[in-house]
Amino acid sequence: MTFDPANNIQDLLQFGEFGDVNPSITDSATYTFMQAGTMLETFQGEAEGCFLYSRHWNPTNKYLSDAMAAMEGTEAAWVTASGMAAISNAIMQICKSGDHIVSSMTTYGGTYALLANFLPKFNIRTSFVNICDIEAVEKEITPQTRVIYTETVTNPMLQISDIPALARLAHKYGIKLVVDNTFTPMIVSPSRLGADITVYSLTKFVNGKNDCVAGAICSDVGFVSSLIDVNNGTSMLLGPVLDPLRSAQILKNLHTLHIRMKQHSHNAMYLARHLREAGVPVIYPGLEEHPGFETLKKMMNPDFGFGGMLAIDMKTTEMANAFMEKLELSGVGYLAVSLGYFKTLFSCSGKSTSSEVPETMQKEMGMSEGLVRFSVGLDNDIKRTFERIVSCLEETGYPSKDQKS
Ligand code: PLP
Repeated sequence: MTFDPANNIQDLLQFGEFGDVNPSITDSATYTFMQAGTMLETFQGEAEGCFLYSRHWNPTNKYLSDAMAAMEGTEAAWVTASGMAAISNAIMQICKSGDHIVSSMTTYGGTYALLANFLPKFNIRTSFVNICDIEAVEKEITPQTRVIYTETVTNPMLQISDIPALARLAHKYGIKLVVDNTFTPMIVSPSRLGADITVYSLTKFVNGKNDCVAGAICSDVGFVSSLIDVNNGTSMLLGPVLDPLRSAQILKNLHTLHIRMKQHSHNAMYLARHLREAGVPVIYPGLEEHPGFETLKKMMNPDFGFGGMLAIDMKTTEMANAFMEKLELSGVGYLAVSLGYFKTLFSCSGKSTSSEVPETMQKEMGMSEGLVRFSVGLDNDIKRTFERIVSCLEETGYPSKDQKS
């Protein structure tokens, strides 16, 4: 039977103790016990269904974690206070001093900074590679390598990681494959394709409202339990706990994610096709000429499209800035970092969400200084949005197809 993340979420039976259709929010930091012995057993992880302290486990966070696990088809999941907490906690749980990571060269800038600048303080080193070149990835593997790290659709170049191929490679060497699926929830289910750990910034599409920051780690029970081990778990000891009030909100938003992803994808595909027709250099993995089109197609769950992220190359930062200011004034959306919002968001990647990546590496990955990344919104009339974008391009002085020929 086809795996359907939306069906899995629909089939969740999560309700509160009064039959409340939205599970009750547990507004407590600590939990009482009627028998001292049960507290001890809970500390030792031996008492089923008991909660100890909310940095460790909170019932509301457990509902959201269970829903994330259902969506990903993993045994378990753990929610965190941010996407970066999910990424850093997962990696630091696996790696110790002396270990090595092979990572995609194009990742979210914060992830790049974590790997390139922060983890070396703990003697954990990273080699950055073109993740689409499986031979190049293999060449970087050493006896110290513990993790292959990538994003399903990389930020901001929108390259496609071949997750089954990377999983085969990782497992050949006894390495964990960690995949950030922030850009493609529902569309791709990395753990079903062989990833050992799938991480998310829930801040983006999953929550979809841009009103909070959150993350998730989806994996097997053993790994998730290790994260909250009272003696050794990164999530327990570094403490990036998600506020249960936020957790409850995100859970409600998760139930509309399938509809939103379809509309984001529909709108992005419309814009990509029409921009291409107008002769604008657009990057979108749903276009047949995109180098990762076939790879993404083979990994996708049916019905959710190719995602809501696209990029236009404006060549120079000046052109990009002028274009984005016009887009904002004409009502296309907001000049803002982040993604997965109901309104369209756009930013110039090299000077914003990838500014942590040195310019030499930006060049090496082929990132133009004028690359404008779009997170396409839920607009009902996408033709109108397209016309506005074209007017902004013309006003910016970007040559139209007719002018070029
Ligand atoms: N992963 C990706 C692909 C992102 O784009 C971002 C943020 O932009 C993150 C992770 C970090 O998430 P958060 O801001 O929730 O910590």
